[in-house]
Amino acid sequence: MFQISLPNIIVAYLVAILAIVFGLWIASDWVRKRRDRRNRRFRLVCNICGWPYQDKSRDPIPPCPQCGALNERTALRDL
Ligand SMILES: [Zn+2]
Repeated sequence: MFQISLPNIIVAYLVAILAIVFGLWIASDWVRKRRDRRNRRFRLVCNICGWPYQDKSRDPIPPCPQCGALNERTALRDL
């Protein structure tokens, strides 16, 4: 059996905690970005009146609920 000193145990414990926190941070960031990307796919902004709305239908040119203008689906950029 090998021996390990108390400072080494503490360092190993801290490294393990940091690795877990870092892993959870990366995973939560990945999930958040994926959810944002999925939600952004259904968001549109009317070209005529500028009304932002959500349309989850398969219609390639959904009508604006505010003014009725037909809007093409285009990718929205991050601000
Ligand atoms: Zn509109």
